[in-house]
Amino acid sequence: MNITVFVKEPGKAPEARRIPNELASLQEIVGGWIETMTVGSDIVVICNEEGRLLGLPYNCKICGLDIFGTIILAGVKGENFADVYSKERLRYLLPHLWNPDYFETKTCVLCGKAFNGFGNNPWPLAESGECCDKCNLERVVPARIEVANGRQAAQRAEGEDLTPAGEKRTATVEWYRPEEKLPKDDIVLLGVVTAESKNVSFVDAMELLSYDSDSGNWILEGYPAVRDVKVSWWCELPVVPDLPEEDA
Ligand SMILES: [Zn+2]
Repeated sequence: MNITVFVKEPGKAPEARRIPNELASLQEIVGGWIETMTVGSDIVVICNEEGRLLGLPYNCKICGLDIFGTIILAGVKGENFADVYSKERLRYLLPHLWNPDYFETKTCVLCGKAFNGFGNNPWPLAESGECCDKCNLERVVPARIEVANGRQAAQRAEGEDLTPAGEKRTATVEWYRPEEKLPKDDIVLLGVVTAESKNVSFVDAMELLSYDSDSGNWILEGYPAVRDVKVSWWCELPVVPDLPEEDA
């Protein structure tokens, strides 16, 4: 029986291949005895057990280990290897496969815990290193908003004019957590958004959006087709000042 797997050769992007689900064909691809590493509940990495000893070229890092030689990403069903993806899995897996560093284990500079996946810039809470998604959402994003608000307040204190028209200034924006407060329906708002779709992905991106209380969904103004939009903060848009009236 054949299975669909991803094969990643050193120095190349992973590619989908249909291969016989037999030890001999797996051994042929990795060039020797196989070793399997579990990287998810239903995904394994199959690599050459002696890749480093045999002097095979460096491929990538997986879970903090340097991997040498060609690797195979396969699914698991019970005791057997299986197709690497179901349709739903593919959506989440593919972007990560193209970035093999995703599987690298990193240490969060803020909480000190190990995490897998892409790290986040911890500024302004740390000058270097990377932080985990949890710290990013719960600590870094609010800190950045505070910095931005503080900067505006400082500029205001110095008498610097922030509104180009030099007219009425609007009040400082209030940010809300969706868990604490939800907006009224169909009002265009600004949100800090994380979402992933086939063509576009957002990570803590500032986007215009609205809320639909019937379905409980957030709808991105620019990307209405994107589903499962997660919002960590939202605020109402400031009122646009009237243009100054021209002197007659
Ligand atoms: Zn952390």
